[in-house]
Amino acid sequence: MSLIKRILVTGGAGFLGSHLCERLVADGHDVICLDNFFTSQKSNVAHLLDKHNFELIRHDVTHPLFLEVDEIYNFACPAAPGHYQYNPIKTMKTSVMGAINVLGMAKRCRAKVLQASTSEVYGDPEVHPQPESYRGSVNTVGLRSCYDEGKRAAETLFMDYHRMNRVNIRLVRIFNTYGPRMHPYDGRVVSNFIRQAINGEDITIFGDGSQSRSFCYRDDLVEGIIRMMNGPDDFVGPVNIGNPGEFTIRELAEQVIELTGSKSKMIQMPLPADDPTQRQPDITLAKKHLDWEPKIALREGLQKTIEWFQSIHLDDYRAPTP
Ligand code: NAD
Ligand code: UDP
Repeated sequence: MSLIKRILVTGGAGFLGSHLCERLVADGHDVICLDNFFTSQKSNVAHLLDKHNFELIRHDVTHPLFLEVDEIYNFACPAAPGHYQYNPIKTMKTSVMGAINVLGMAKRCRAKVLQASTSEVYGDPEVHPQPESYRGSVNTVGLRSCYDEGKRAAETLFMDYHRMNRVNIRLVRIFNTYGPRMHPYDGRVVSNFIRQAINGEDITIFGDGSQSRSFCYRDDLVEGIIRMMNGPDDFVGPVNIGNPGEFTIRELAEQVIELTGSKSKMIQMPLPADDPTQRQPDITLAKKHLDWEPKIALREGLQKTIEWFQSIHLDDYRAPTP
């Protein structure tokens, strides 16, 4: 039997955080979910509230934390462009002050701490696909910078606490992930297209739809994250976790229309500033060190996600407020 640990998940009520909490609770660990509910709601973890090994705390990671834990998954941060651009200064504070607070806590109680970093550290990449050694092409003063640069600064803080204070860290660069429990109004492409297709609304293609993304289903992502946390101490990352299957945005729209049987039409809208033209993870390191690769193809994952969207009441989801 594996060792039971006390584990903190910041941003634990969010899309990815709630699935991570669910998995850790099922594995028998004592899980503390911490969230300020900026982009999520309690319903994401309501099914865990009566479990003896689950606790929920309302807290903002920009303020110091005092808990005694063995491991920390630092997932607190708005992730969708519309969410992180709502209050860009707060987004940067969440990444930077949040990292300082979890790292300080990890140092004090000798916890292992994993950072949810992002493919956005590569910006609009000139190298394709992106290996971890690629240093990225990020605009420091654009509308996406609060997120991209906040996450880059967090990676720096993690490495410096590791080198200076021997904090046991893990850095994971997550590529676009989708699945049930994504916020239906987060403005991300998968949630927008599915919602629009189900409601018979126009499918909004930004630009000409030739830009690409690589979409990872949430179960594959959670498995990769758990493997990285429990992997060898001499492999701290950064490691890419994502699905190398690359699709243009137009191809994604076509698949969603086909799978929903929707009569929605595609319409073109202006491309947002600094929108990356291509993105595909090189997962050589994850395969080698974690024996991990994604198993769920886009079509299968979209089918499950569409079923979830069809099962919820969209009115239960409010727009995020500060
Ligand atoms: P999400 O918005 O569903 O989850 C983020 C959670 O953090 C929410 O519950 C939100 O309320 C909480 N939060 C935000 N600011 C906070 C603060 N100051 N204090 C406490 N809690 C706060 O997004 P997600 O898709 O689940 O993303 C989770 C993490 O994974 C984020 O750090 C994100 O940057 C990273 N990530 C996600 C993706 C993806 O495709 N989903 C890709 C790359 C990186
Ligand atoms: N996008 C789109 N229509 C939408 C929402 C997004 O065409 O309704 C595009 C967006 O311009 C980008 C891609 O889909 O090129 C992915 O956008 P998302 O916000 O999901 O994630 P990110 O840009 O952070 O990868």
